[in-house]
Amino acid sequence: MTECIFCKIGSGEIPAKKIYEDQNTIAFLDIFPSAKGHSLVIPKKHYSTLLDIPEMELKELIQIVQKVGAGIMKATQADGFNILQNNKEAAGQIVPHLHFHIIPRFKDDCLKLSFGSKQGEEKELAHWESQIKKHI
Ligand SMILES: [Zn+2]
Repeated sequence: MTECIFCKIGSGEIPAKKIYEDQNTIAFLDIFPSAKGHSLVIPKKHYSTLLDIPEMELKELIQIVQKVGAGIMKATQADGFNILQNNKEAAGQIVPHLHFHIIPRFKDDCLKLSFGSKQGEEKELAHWESQIKKHI
């Protein structure tokens, strides 16, 4: 039995605001969002970092990052977005299960990127869950 929170989200054992799911991949809203629509894309299978995933699976995963990124742009009407991918604790990786952050950006948002600062509100997360899904 795994104790990895992202494995549990991948298997559906722990609920998440899922905006995309297929056989190998899942995308969901970050519950500590840096911006509205801030989402994570993960492989369902457990890999700790970018260095651990096989090349073919990474190709599939990054294609989903592109697809979900496009949907988030449309839903939030963002002006841009950051992709962040942290590897190991020293680099700011909090959950040791490979994940890509997609963070929508807005002109002059003055966002200083950091993680784990403030938990998102349920209502707002639910709103973006339904809005982004429509665009993927
Ligand atoms: Zn995991």
